[in-house]
Amino acid sequence: MRLVSYDDGRVGCLAGNRVIPLRARTMRDAIARWEAGEPAVQEHGDGIPLRDVRLRVPVADPSKIIAAPVNYRDHQAEMSSDAQVGALGFFLKAPSSLLDPGGTIRLPYHDRRFDQEGELALVIGRTACRVSERDALSYVFGYTGLLDITMRGGEDRSTRKSFDTFTPMGPTLVTADEFGDPGEVELRCWVSGDLRQNASTRDLIWGVARLVSYASSVMTLHPGDVITTGTPAGVGPLADGDTVRLELSGLGLDLTAQVAADATIASPTSGRNRGPVPPPGPARRGA
Ligand code: MN
Repeated sequence: MRLVSYDDGRVGCLAGNRVIPLRARTMRDAIARWEAGEPAVQEHGDGIPLRDVRLRVPVADPSKIIAAPVNYRDHQAEMSSDAQVGALGFFLKAPSSLLDPGGTIRLPYHDRRFDQEGELALVIGRTACRVSERDALSYVFGYTGLLDITMRGGEDRSTRKSFDTFTPMGPTLVTADEFGDPGEVELRCWVSGDLRQNASTRDLIWGVARLVSYASSVMTLHPGDVITTGTPAGVGPLADGDTVRLELSGLGLDLTAQVAADATIASPTSGRNRGPVPPPGPARRGA
C-alpha cells in the first residue's frame, strides 16, 4: 500500500488521485496493527481527491532519525572524504527538524552554505535490537523519501543537519511488501528545475539490511524510527526561492520543498572553513 498522512495526521491509502482513509486512525496506529499481524482495512467509499488533502510528514514523532554519512562512493569522491559509512558509523538528526511535504526549508544564516541531499529512507515497524543482516528487512514497515538538508562546515553533523525544517519527508510511505527491493531504487533530485542527482541505490556502500542490522547493534530501534540511507553525488547549494524535488522509483509521488532565506542572521559558530570540502555549486540559471 502507498500510505499518506494527511490533514490532522490521519492515514490513508493512495489509489490513483484519491486518498482512501484507513480504519487505523494514524500512521502510528497503522504500524501497530502491522506489528500485530493485522491487515490494514480501508474505509468504504470513494475517498477524498488528493488535491483536497494537506499531505503531512508520514511519521511526525519518531524517537530518532538515524542517518548514514558518505554511503555512496561518488559522493565520497565529490566531498574529498577519506572515510565512508564503514568507518564513520551513523549520526542522528533531531526529529524536530521534520517538515511536511511541500513545506518551506528556512535557511538560518546568510554567511554559510546549505545543500540539498536527496535520500531513500525507511521506517521501522517493530522493535529491533541486535538483529542480523539476514533478518533486518523484516523489521522495516515501509520506505519513503527524505531530504537531508545540510549546512556545510566543521560543526558536528548533528548540529549542521538538525535545524528546524531541515528534514522534509514523504509524501508516501510505501509498505515494504509493495515496495520490493530497496537496493533497486532510482533516485533523482532537482533544484529549481536543474537535475542535480541521478543515481541508483544499487550503489549504496551499506545497503538497507546492513544499516538496520548495524544501527540495531548500537541502539534499540522502535516502531516509527527513521533510517535514511545517505546521498549520492550531486549535492549543491540552496538559495532563497529555490524549489527542491525528489523522485524515488516506487513511491508514486515526488517530495517537494521550497527554500526561504528571508530571516537570516550571521552564524554564531565558526566552522565555515573547516570540515569536508563540498564540490563547487553548479552554475545557476540567470546567475
Ligand atoms: Mn545525508
